[in-house]
Amino acid sequence: MTGQIPSPGKARAQSVTFRQWGKQYLALEPVKKLRGYAIRKLYVENLVRFFGDKPLGAIMPEDVTAYRAQRVRYKRIKCGKCEGMVSREVCHACGWKRNDAGAPVSVQTINHDHMTLTHMLNVARSPQFRLVTDNPAAHVPKPNPNNERDRIASAEEWERLKAVLPPHLRRLLTVAYDVGPRRGELLNLE
Ligand SMILES: [Zn+2]
Repeated sequence: MTGQIPSPGKARAQSVTFRQWGKQYLALEPVKKLRGYAIRKLYVENLVRFFGDKPLGAIMPEDVTAYRAQRVRYKRIKCGKCEGMVSREVCHACGWKRNDAGAPVSVQTINHDHMTLTHMLNVARSPQFRLVTDNPAAHVPKPNPNNERDRIASAEEWERLKAVLPPHLRRLLTVAYDVGPRRGELLNLE
């Protein structure tokens, strides 16, 4: 053998997909003993739907941010192609893609998935597995849903507030509002 031999951990991380790790993680005895295991399975399912067959070691903080931004919920409707019911973006049975937009879920709901992802990657990083060397989920902030400072007013709330503000404050806050929230953050509000 010549050339560089990748570390065993690295080689494994490149071959283990997120989906595979999700399965393995949920089968771990200490995880099975966690309070709320049943609901944790649903969080893992949400995550697997997004990260799918991406190698565990290829997940970057940007991917975690993208996960947070895309987390929406869909109304249960009849499939436009087959007879099934669809509560996701794509029909599980036939692949039909719905065209109505999902409703944003609450920051708290997204945080539950995020915390599960952080734990999954911490376990993957542990000496027992050494599948990753870093935890990208830990680098992405989780806004506190109860913290008013992290909360951004909806357009409607803002219009109401603007109507009652004295002109100098209105000007000041208009600038703050316009430059403050990114669109993704606005959509993440419940
Ligand atoms: Zn269908």
